Amino acid sequence: MTTYLLTANPSKWPEGSSDPHFVADQAERFASGEELTSSEWATNTKHGHVAGERVYLLVQGEGPRGIIASGHLASGTTEPGPHWRGDGSLATYVQIDWDAFLPIDDVLPTPELIAAAPETAWQPNSSGTRVKPADEEAVESAWQAHLEALGPGPVGGDPTTPPEDDDIERSYREAKRLVRGHQRRFRQLLLKHYPAECAYCGLDVLQVLEAAHLEADSKGGLPTKENGRLMCANHHRAYDAKLLTWTGTEFTPTHGAAVVLPAPSP
Ligand SMILES: [Zn+2]
Repeated sequence: MTTYLLTANPSKWPEGSSDPHFVADQAERFASGEELTSSEWATNTKHGHVAGERVYLLVQGEGPRGIIASGHLASGTTEPGPHWRGDGSLATYVQIDWDAFLPIDDVLPTPELIAAAPETAWQPNSSGTRVKPADEEAVESAWQAHLEALGPGPVGGDPTTPPEDDDIERSYREAKRLVRGHQRRFRQLLLKHYPAECAYCGLDVLQVLEAAHLEADSKGGLPTKENGRLMCANHHRAYDAKLLTWTGTEFTPTHGAAVVLPAPSP
C-alpha cells in the first residue's frame, strides 16, 4: 500500500487557526474511544493521491516532532482550494478517515522513526512525501507499538472481533515515552489544598490518590488548584474516559454510566 506523510507545523499555524482545536479534539476523541472526525489535510504530492492510501500526520517545527495520527484517504486528490495560510494562494487537499490521533506531546518521536525506517526523509519540506516502500512495514509496526505503549484506548484492529483465547502471544518491548514532568508537583499542590481523598468516592488511601486535570492537559488545562482535584486511580481513569463528568462543583456519572465504587469499609 502506498503510504504518505502529511505534515503539520504548529509553529506556523496562523493566529486564530482552528487546527490546534482540531488536533486536541481528535486526541480527546481517540483517548475516549469515540469516532474520529474525517477531515481534509493539505498535500503537495506531484503524483496525485488515490483513495485508500495510508497516511500519517507528521508534526514538525519547534515543539515535539514525530507522528501523531494515522488514517486512510477517503478520496483522491481534489481540485485545489484556498491555502490554509490564508494568503490567497491555492493548496491541494485530501479527505482523510483518521483511525488514530494523539496529543502533540505524545508523538512517536522523529529520532525513533529515523532509527526504524532510515530510507524515508523524516524532515520533509512539504506535506505529501512518500514513505519509502522498504520502510512501510517498519513505520506501521513502530506506530502500532507506540499506540499500544501509550494505552489504554483503541489501538487499531477491529474491537468487535477480539482475539481467540490462545491467540495472544506474550511480547515485550522497551518503550520510551514523554511523561508530564509537572505531575508530581501538581499532586503535591492538590494535597496541600484539598482533603486527601478521592473527590468522587471519598477513598482516603494516599497511595492511590492521583492529580486529575479538570480541563485536560492536552486541551491546555493548567496544573493549578482550580483546575485540579484529587481522585483515586479508578475514578481518575473513569473521568478521563468520560464516564464521569465535572459539573463545576462535583463529579457525576455520565449518561447513567455504572461507575464502580470501592467496597464499603468494614
Ligand atoms: Zn474514587
